[in-house]
Amino acid sequence: MSKYLFEPAAPVSVEVSGSDARFPVNRIFCVGRNYAAHVREMGFDPDREEPCYFTKSARCIVPSGSEIPYPPATANYHHEIELVVAIGRAGFELAVDEALSVVFGYTCGLDMTRRDLQTASRESKGPWDIGKDFENSAVIGRIRTVEEIGHPASGRIQLSVNGRLRQDSDLENLIWSVPEIIAHLSQLYRLEPGDLIYTGTPDGVGPVGPGDRIAGSVAGVGDIELTISS
Ligand code: MN
Repeated sequence: MSKYLFEPAAPVSVEVSGSDARFPVNRIFCVGRNYAAHVREMGFDPDREEPCYFTKSARCIVPSGSEIPYPPATANYHHEIELVVAIGRAGFELAVDEALSVVFGYTCGLDMTRRDLQTASRESKGPWDIGKDFENSAVIGRIRTVEEIGHPASGRIQLSVNGRLRQDSDLENLIWSVPEIIAHLSQLYRLEPGDLIYTGTPDGVGPVGPGDRIAGSVAGVGDIELTISS
């Protein structure tokens, strides 16, 4: 047995519907600007955007239903509801028509964002990490398997804050579909079991503050909740 200087961090994992075995998280890939109306609200032209990726550490994962503190160093902390793909098999240089074969299942996620820090990074042409990859920033629901729900290509994706609807779109509005994202990402990385892909958020993103309750869902996939501590 290896000897460590201090206790290694516990493995990060996600609950799976209908199973007592958990999904161990490897890497978290996120797609930016993947719904045209959201690309426009961020000030870009959706017709001119290639798929845009960033990553989060697995340590950012927090389960749906959690209460988390308002994060440090931001005055513009945003919600982003997203369909999340859970990869269950290795895949490299996949064609679009074979890409779905590596999918284990799907769930809802919240790509929580320090928008002010992300915007400042973008304007200085620096990396997005401090705006995107921080504690509790990757909220995730229970994973549902492909056997259970298939491969959702359409369905309502929506999010409310304190009962007021903020984001309301449909998966069919994704600019890059799930198989297209997986195929494209697999040209850049050797996908591995345990990888998660946050597929991007529709328009309607906005700030949340202490005491706010976020509730969202993707039709046919599940729902997600988060409370910001007051
Ligand atoms: Mn996002």
